[in-house]
Amino acid sequence: QKQPLNQDCIFCKIISGIIPSSKVFENETILAFLDVSPIKPGHTLIIPKGHYENLLDLPEQYYSELIKISQKIGKSIIESGLGTGFNLVQNNFPSAGQVVMHAHWHIIPRNDSDGLYC
Ligand code: 5GP
Ligand code: ZN
Repeated sequence: QKQPLNQDCIFCKIISGIIPSSKVFENETILAFLDVSPIKPGHTLIIPKGHYENLLDLPEQYYSELIKISQKIGKSIIESGLGTGFNLVQNNFPSAGQVVMHAHWHIIPRNDSDGLYC
C-alpha cells in the first residue's frame, strides 16, 4: 500500500499540484520534474508518489519503476545532446546533503568539460 502524501512536504505538494513543476514524466507511482535550481540544464528529480523520507523507507514496489524511469531519462539526455553522460545521485539524511525529506533521485547531465562533481 502507498504511503499518503504529507501536507508539510514540498515534493508532496508538487505531486498534488499545489506547487507547480515542469514535469518530465509521470505515471501512477513515479513523478519526474526539472530541478528548480539545476546544477546543469536538464537536471531532473525523480520521486515516488508517496511520502517516504529516504532510501531506507522506500518499499520494494518502487524499485523497478525507479530504475526504468532513470534509464528512460538517461537515454533522452544522451539522445537530445544535453549531455554525453549523466550522474544518478541520491542523498540520504542531512549530513549527506539531503535537504528535502522526501526520497528522490537526481539525474544530472554531464559533459567531458564539466570535471567531476561540479
Ligand atoms: P537534496 O539536497 O535534498 O538532495 O535535493 C533537493 C533538490 O530539490 C535541490 O536540488 C533543490 O533545488 C530541489 N528543489 C527544492 N525545492 C524545489 C521546488 O519547489 N521545485 C523544484 N522543482 N525543485 C526543488
Ligand atoms: Zn513528501
